[in-house]
Amino acid sequence: MEFVFLPQQAVVPVEGSKQLFPVHRIYCVGRNYAEHAKEMGDSGREAPFFFMKPADAVLPVAHGTVGEMPYPAMTKDLHHEIELVVALSSGGKNIPAAEAASHIYGYAVGLDMTRRDLQAEAKKLGRPWCTSKGFDQSAPISSIHPISVTGPIEHGAIHLNVNGQARQTGDINQLIWSIAETIEQLSNFYELRAGDLIFTGTPAGVAAVVKGDLLEGSVEGVGDLRLRLV
Ligand code: MN
Repeated sequence: MEFVFLPQQAVVPVEGSKQLFPVHRIYCVGRNYAEHAKEMGDSGREAPFFFMKPADAVLPVAHGTVGEMPYPAMTKDLHHEIELVVALSSGGKNIPAAEAASHIYGYAVGLDMTRRDLQAEAKKLGRPWCTSKGFDQSAPISSIHPISVTGPIEHGAIHLNVNGQARQTGDINQLIWSIAETIEQLSNFYELRAGDLIFTGTPAGVAAVVKGDLLEGSVEGVGDLRLRLV
């Protein structure tokens, strides 16, 4: 037996090593910071909801470099969402929150780039979010920092500057659903696997970016991510 063509594996580099993290799936949590939930029109602690991006939507940016993201077609309102990303080295179904930490390989800084105009139209018409959220290179991401180096991340500042101006700011301790609770809830819907990435949600301040903009994101205790739209 042989492949019809060579399979392609999406990967994200591991910080401080020559290892590559093979991406299985990209899960994203919607509205997981109270102030962002309000700016998107909701209030209260609703059950978390999830959507996905294709594994090969990752756009890895090496430490100390500025990544380049081509401004995507079919939108006039591309938004940034800075997020803490959790990378899993194991998984399972129905994982209790108390056991969730044992499945975490590490953390990264990610951007859940969003065609907000297409998302707004999809919401209005009750249509899927695939073209607004799951497009090519919609998941710029830093190297993955192993939990063996960072320790568990449960608090710490999360920031995004655009062209040197503060756009988004928050703290990981403001997550409506903690990382452990998110893993528990997600594992009730899907069997989680080694290689899964979870974008944990974005703080308030989402807004549009245009070609030429420099995005500089960071999560305290994890690292940073620099990206230019070209
Ligand atoms: Mn998001």
